[in-house]
Amino acid sequence: MAFERKPAVKKMSSDSTRRHVARRKGCRFCADATNVIDYKEAENLSNFLTERGKIIPRRISGNCAKHQRKLCEAIKRARNIALLPFAGRHFN
Ligand SMILES: [Zn+2]
Repeated sequence: MAFERKPAVKKMSSDSTRRHVARRKGCRFCADATNVIDYKEAENLSNFLTERGKIIPRRISGNCAKHQRKLCEAIKRARNIALLPFAGRHFN
């Protein structure tokens, strides 16, 4: 009885597909009281923007509703005074 070996291709589906962008549970602003949302801190806010300058949705970033609202407001303020981009680089 010939035993058929499966080709070695099917290897990365099980554990490597679940790996995507760093997933932390819960709101990082709730977790750390020293981490405040400030429109002047563009460095911190830019963590919540995509490459194209869009705000990362709550379901991805894990922020709570309250802090996502604050963050959104802060990002919009920062954009207005040109600390953050409205849109990323120009693509054709
Ligand atoms: Zn929060």
